[in-house]
Amino acid sequence: MHASQYHINTLKEAPTEAEVASHQLMTRAGMIRKAAGGIYTYMPMGLRVLRKIENIIRQEMDRSGAIELLMPVVQPAELWVESGRWEKYGDELLRIKDRHQRDFVLQPTSEEVITDIARNEIHSWRQLPVNFYHIQTKFRDERRPRFGLMRGREFTMKDAYSFDRNAEDAQASYDNMYATYMRIFGRLGLNFRAVAADTGSIGGSRSHEFQVIADTGEDLLVYNPDTDYAANIELAPAPCLLAERAAPGQALVKTATPDAPKCELVAQQLGLDLTATVKSVVLATEVEEDGQTKTTVHLLLVRGDHEVNDIKVSKLAGFEKGHRLATEEEIVSTFGCKPGYLGPIGTRQPVQVIADLTVANMSDFVCGANEEGFHYTGVNWGRDLPEPITADLRNVVHGDPAPEGGKLAIQRGIEVGHVFFLGDVYSKKLNATFLETDGKPAVMQMGCYGIGVSRIAAAAIEQNHDERGMIWPRALAPFEVVICPIGFTKSDAVRQTATDLYKQLREQGVDVILDDRDARPGIMFADWELIGVPLRITIGERGLKEGVVEMQARRDASSTHVPVEQIAQVSV
Ligand code: ATP
Ligand code: MG
Ligand code: MG
Ligand code: MG
Repeated sequence: MHASQYHINTLKEAPTEAEVASHQLMTRAGMIRKAAGGIYTYMPMGLRVLRKIENIIRQEMDRSGAIELLMPVVQPAELWVESGRWEKYGDELLRIKDRHQRDFVLQPTSEEVITDIARNEIHSWRQLPVNFYHIQTKFRDERRPRFGLMRGREFTMKDAYSFDRNAEDAQASYDNMYATYMRIFGRLGLNFRAVAADTGSIGGSRSHEFQVIADTGEDLLVYNPDTDYAANIELAPAPCLLAERAAPGQALVKTATPDAPKCELVAQQLGLDLTATVKSVVLATEVEEDGQTKTTVHLLLVRGDHEVNDIKVSKLAGFEKGHRLATEEEIVSTFGCKPGYLGPIGTRQPVQVIADLTVANMSDFVCGANEEGFHYTGVNWGRDLPEPITADLRNVVHGDPAPEGGKLAIQRGIEVGHVFFLGDVYSKKLNATFLETDGKPAVMQMGCYGIGVSRIAAAAIEQNHDERGMIWPRALAPFEVVICPIGFTKSDAVRQTATDLYKQLREQGVDVILDDRDARPGIMFADWELIGVPLRITIGERGLKEGVVEMQARRDASSTHVPVEQIAQVSV
C-alpha cells in the first residue's frame, strides 16, 4: 500500500462527545465516522482492523469444528413471536414494517432464525452435533449508545449456535467454545479474564463472559486472586458490598451472595487501581410524569475527579420495610464525616445526601437506619428482589471482618465475548427435534456464543494507547510496518531504498505501507503514532550515508539503527 493512493485523514481534535480514548483516537485517526448516534461508517483504516479481528475469529472457529453460514439482518417477526421474545425483548429490539405492513426485526442476535434452520435441516441424531456461526451486522437500539464502537447501535458480532443430542454433549460443545474463546482472545493479544456471568435476556442456565481488563469498562468484575473464582458482579442476587471509610484505596469488602458461596463474607484491602467509587448515596424526591412524587435513592459514582455515573436504586426494599433515613449526626458518628450536599440533579428535588463515603464499589447497597441502629441493605435493582440482607453496619465498619473466605479483588472490564448454555429454551419453543437412535423424537440441546467484533477494536485501544495515540497489538494493527522516507521526491537514494524495502517486506508477507506523501517528518510521525502502527522504519539521506536506517517500535521509548542490508532480515 502506498499512502499517497490510500485514504488517510487524521484530525487534531476529537469530537467533544467522545469521552473515552478509543472513541477519540479512532475518530482522530480517521478509522470511524459517525452517521448517527451509535451508527458509524468503518473507514478504510478502521475496516482493516475489523477484518484482522474477524479473520482470527474465523480461523479459530473453523478450527473448533464450527461451520460458517450467513443469516439475514432483517428477520420475520413470526419467529420472534414463536420464541416469546417479540413481547419480551423490550425497546432494544428494532421493529420495522414492510410495504405490506408485515412485521420484521433488525436482528440483535439470531437464536430464532438458527433454531428455525435447525428444525428444518436436522432430522437425525447422525447430523449432530453441529455448531453454526456467522459474522454479521447486529442492531440494538441501545438506550445510551456511547463510547464509539464500544456501545454502538449497529455493530458487528460473531455469533455461534451449537446443537447437540443431550445435555452432556451440549456441555462438551460449550467447553469447546470456551477453550476456543481463550485461544481467540490470546491471539488477539489482549489482557482479558473469563468470568461467570448472568444469562440476561438470552436465557439459559450457565454462562461466562470474556472481559478485556480496562478502567473504562462498564462492567465490574469480582475475582479471588488465589483461586479461579471470577464473576461479573451483576451475577450475585444481593451482593452487599460494604467498604469502610478508610485511607484512599483501602476498604473492607463484605459480600453476602447466596448464589456465589465462594464469594461469601470475604474481606480484603482493595488496591489503589480501583477506578469507580461510590461517592455518595443520595436520597431524592423524583417528580413523575403524572405529577406524583416518588422517593428514590441514587448512588453517585466517581472516577478521579469527575462523576461517571448516577445509578438509581429503584426498589428500596430496606426503606419500604420501614427503615428511616440516617440523620446527619448518625452519619457523622458512624462514618466520621459530614454528609456533603449535592445540588438537584435533573428534575429531582430536593436532594439529600444520606451518606458521603470515600469508599470503593458499593454499587449494590444503600444505607439506612432502623430503630436498632445503623444498617445497610443489600439491593439489586432490575431483578426480583430477594429478602433484603441487613447487618449491623457498625460491626462491619469498626469490627473485624469475618475471617472465612478469601481475598476478593475488583476490577473493571469490557465485555467482548459471552458464551451461554441454553439447554432447550429455544428448541422446545420452536419445536426443534430430531430422531434418536431408538426412532423417537428428542429435543435438541443448544448453546450460543457471541463475540463483539467491533467492540474488540475499541477495547484493544482502551488497553493500549498513550498521549500520542493508539498502540496496536501486531495481530490487530491496520498495518504492521510503516516505511517513512524523508525526502521521497528529492533524494533518489532514499526513494530507491524505501521502494526496495517495501517490495522485500511485501514478498515476506509483511503488511506494510509506504508513506510516499512526501510530508514533513513531524507530520508523518504524528500520523503513524496516532494510527498506532507497531513498527516505523525511517529512511533519510543522513542515515544512508552511514549505511543505516532507523527502526522505531511504537511501544518503545528509543529507536535503533540497523544497517540497510540487514533491515529485511530483522524480524518485524
Ligand atoms: P452489554 O452487557 O455490553 O450490553 P450484552 O451482554 O447485551 O452486552 P450479548 O448479548 O452477550 O451482549 O452479545 C454478545 C457480545 O456482543 C457482547 O459480549 C459484546 O461484546 C457485543 N455487544 C453487545 N452489545 C453491543 C453494542 N451495543 N455495541 C458493540 N458490541 C456489543
Ligand atoms: Mg446489552
Ligand atoms: Mg452484558
Ligand atoms: Mg452478554
